[in-house]
Amino acid sequence: MAIRIFIDQGHNPQNPNAGAEGNGVREQDITYDVGVRLAALLNANPNFEARLSRNSPDEQLGTSTTTSLQARVYGANSWRADYFISLHANASTISTASGSEAYVYSLSSIATDMAHLILDGLNYMTGLQNRGVFARPTLYVLRATSMPAVLVEMGYITNPGDAYLMTYDPESFARGIYNGILTYYGLL
Ligand SMILES: [Zn+2]
Repeated sequence: MAIRIFIDQGHNPQNPNAGAEGNGVREQDITYDVGVRLAALLNANPNFEARLSRNSPDEQLGTSTTTSLQARVYGANSWRADYFISLHANASTISTASGSEAYVYSLSSIATDMAHLILDGLNYMTGLQNRGVFARPTLYVLRATSMPAVLVEMGYITNPGDAYLMTYDPESFARGIYNGILTYYGLL
């Protein structure tokens, strides 16, 4: 049986639940693009089967932020995914803030191992700083999913260098996350 990875591309194309913006870039466009690329890498590997939360660039999930998040969790739970990976880009009022970080429901969960390996993979492929793994038990997609879940903040959309990399080299972000998943399952 293939390992089922549910990839949640954070945010909707439009409000409700649109993403952050910075440097002329929209978070929801970056998460959509990296998600499609990550799903393609996983689905080309017979060990995995991947599904996306957003299957076209203009697909809106839900009619409020709450129902948008519920739709993503329902997609993963009803499919009985083995892992839930939510893709996001960070934002800060400090434009020099840079790098990748990841959130899990609890640091004592096995998702913490996956999160560290994803950040190692991202750092290797993109050169962005690994800012570490943090517990965020209040995040809906982390607490409502019935499988281990990792939310990845791939880089800062408010940092010109990070935003440029995510826009013009999304494949490196997809491949970095993919390599982290392969390492987690002992396949790399
Ligand atoms: Zn986000």
